[in-house]
Amino acid sequence: MKKGKKLYEGKAKIIYSTSDKNLIIQYFKDDATAFNNEKRTIIEGKGVLNNRISEHILTNLSQIGIENHLVKRLNMREQLIKFVEIIPIEFVIRNVATGSLTKRLGIEDGTVLKEPLIEYCLKDDKLGDPLISEDHIYAFEWANKKEIEKIKKTIFRINDFMIGMFRGVGIKLIDFKLEFGRTKIDGRKEIILADEISPDTCRLWDSATDKKLDKDRFRKDLGDLLPAYTEVAKRLGILHEQSNVSAVNVTKLSSIKKKRK
Ligand code: 5GP
Repeated sequence: MKKGKKLYEGKAKIIYSTSDKNLIIQYFKDDATAFNNEKRTIIEGKGVLNNRISEHILTNLSQIGIENHLVKRLNMREQLIKFVEIIPIEFVIRNVATGSLTKRLGIEDGTVLKEPLIEYCLKDDKLGDPLISEDHIYAFEWANKKEIEKIKKTIFRINDFMIGMFRGVGIKLIDFKLEFGRTKIDGRKEIILADEISPDTCRLWDSATDKKLDKDRFRKDLGDLLPAYTEVAKRLGILHEQSNVSAVNVTKLSSIKKKRK
């Protein structure tokens, strides 16, 4: 598969064309941004961890029948993915109230929701991804009723699966953001899961201590973002206990000296 030209550069990822028009390459950058790009920095190694964690989650979701855009991980920072027409909506699902929900509605931070709650935001950086209702989606034809019904069902399944997966490794899944896209499967238009699922797009709290293991470490200046993402990867069994992501940043290999006997 030959890598072609850059098609699009977003805040955390770059998309490249390939020699196959149905496939593209998704490159995970180290850039961390928050508050609609007002706050930004580079955290070396973040892209590598998000690539691995997202690959792990999307592969597991495929195994339970949830179709998604991942074809395969190509290397430390790149994935081969299916080209989809992205639906311009960020689907947020919440199990515990925090973040913009608590600010917007004055709900106490950490309130466990009786049922998972889905919110829709228009994917538009210039407008700051505003919250929209389901009726807005139909009024402006961003998606139709059949598509939204299918997406909602899929979101609840993904949420149930991910709650269990994270709970098994001592992590509470607080909320997360998903994106979906349209593609053709056997000549039929289908909706599949797209983008990424990683600590950049989820809120993950340690089950015992409520320590934040996600992008809120950057948003709230808590520091130690890379160790937190590494911890998530280790608990999911992606990185071995001894692994250190800094190893991937080594550009020159130092020569190995043999010990004299
Ligand atoms: P909130 O609306 O509370 O800021 O975010 C809810 C959840 O969706 C959080 O897990 C957050 O990480 C995710 N989320 C919402 N919008 C975005 C976005 O534009 N980019 C990323 N990376 N995550 C988002």
